[in-house]
Amino acid sequence: MGNHLFDLVAARMPAGDAPFALLDDGRRYSYADMVAVSARFANALVALGVEPGDRVAVQVEKSIEALMLYLGAVRAGAIFLPLNTAYTPAEIEYFLGDAEPAVFVCDPAKAQAMKPYAEKAGARLETLGIWRSHEVSAGTLADKGLAAATAFADVDRGPDDLAAILYTSGTTGRSKGAMLSHDNLASNALALVDYWRFTRDDVLLHALPIFHTHGLFVATNTVLFAGASMILLPKFDPDQVFAHLPQATCMMGVPTFYVRLLQDQRLTPASTAHMRLFVSGSAPLLAETHREWRERTGHAILERYGMTETNMNTSNPYDGERVAGTVGFPLPGVAARVTEPESGRPLGAGEIGMIEVKGPNVFKGYWRNPEKTAAEFRADGFFITGDLGRIDPAGYVHIVGRGKDLIITGGYNVYPKEVEAEIDEMAGVIESAVIGCPHPDFGEGVTAVVVVKPGATITAASIASTLEQRLARFKLPKQVFIVDDLPRNTMGKVQKNLLREQYKDIYARAMKAGE
Ligand code: AMP
Repeated sequence: MGNHLFDLVAARMPAGDAPFALLDDGRRYSYADMVAVSARFANALVALGVEPGDRVAVQVEKSIEALMLYLGAVRAGAIFLPLNTAYTPAEIEYFLGDAEPAVFVCDPAKAQAMKPYAEKAGARLETLGIWRSHEVSAGTLADKGLAAATAFADVDRGPDDLAAILYTSGTTGRSKGAMLSHDNLASNALALVDYWRFTRDDVLLHALPIFHTHGLFVATNTVLFAGASMILLPKFDPDQVFAHLPQATCMMGVPTFYVRLLQDQRLTPASTAHMRLFVSGSAPLLAETHREWRERTGHAILERYGMTETNMNTSNPYDGERVAGTVGFPLPGVAARVTEPESGRPLGAGEIGMIEVKGPNVFKGYWRNPEKTAAEFRADGFFITGDLGRIDPAGYVHIVGRGKDLIITGGYNVYPKEVEAEIDEMAGVIESAVIGCPHPDFGEGVTAVVVVKPGATITAASIASTLEQRLARFKLPKQVFIVDDLPRNTMGKVQKNLLREQYKDIYARAMKAGE
């Protein structure tokens, strides 16, 4: 049968000495190294007793070795389970208890704190750190890998067998494990290589974390399936980005990367002239950022839309117009529709509703949670994304926000994005987040939290009065707050759940004072 995912990588691979990864410490990994080192990790895992279908949970810093562990786990027939490096040992306890991995790999510095949790979950604890030299151990699993053979007979895994479980970020309740099959990952990587025209000549600047679908699958699998190479940076740092940009042909980032780079004088037409492609995703890219980037560099950022459960769903076109504020068309093989959220009845062109998707990219369900899985799929197999949006007459998908962020005030639906777009247009505004706060009469009251440019004269009162000219009364914020910045998670998503929590009392007091 073969190993579905890795066989496809191997079949498309360039010659062994072709580069796969260039590291910030000057090391260079060839495709032959990729095959050999991932085999070492596969051997080490099998020697630890890992069997097909076992979970290998991993919470380690970003490194090429961590990526090789991902491939090693896949080749060993295991299920790779990366965990956000920000999770505390107490949070890790939940994931280990839920996933029951055979092995848990953590940073050497955290081994002591993690030991009791690994033991409780019945997982064997191993460590993997940052490789510095042959003389210094990079952890117990690195040592076992170094001692293992560079040849490995890949374990048979079919297209529907699981390759990974990624936990959702869990902003509404507990994180759930999204089960991703070999073909979920492979089909999406093939689609993206094609859609974004990746070739062996491409060099991707990789500054994303690798515990999330964006950096692990979108970035890494696209490179692997194209036989291309990457510059693997430990994290996003503008100095590092500009130092390595001359060697790159493309970059993938979250919107905050682009916002930060725009603040840097080194971003010029000359420094980006050689680049082929800039891709953005994981959170909405402000139309303003898209415009500014184009003005500064001449490049139109290509925005795409995906999620942990579905891999990538839609993308702006490579050749056609990349429309700011939209996430483009469904990828080949992916069907997308907009429905009435409660009934699932398909809506007409331009109507706002629930975005639903179906295709080989869509996951196999939530780990050990059949009720939740059943609740998120329609009878005809479409997955209910939880994102609200519309499809315009030209076929471009527009996202107006998460369903749970929809504000219902006095029985009216207010889509935060519509109010945010109006505020963001105002001179002196950097960005805004519109949320619903509990209101005694209306259920929820529209509330705007706005970040303004340093020295701008715009005020909460002037924002409120400008909006009065532009929006229906029920959409008007009842309170406007000016802040220094918005809370974001590591993927650049504005954490509206935190804002709602933070502002509910402030809002209530402000409403009372204003009575
Ligand atoms: P995650 O599972 O962490 O990848 O988060 C997925 C969610 O991120 C989606 O359901 C969307 O709400 C959001 N998202 C991803 N890409 C975009 C985008 N280009 N524009 C707006 N929201 C996005």
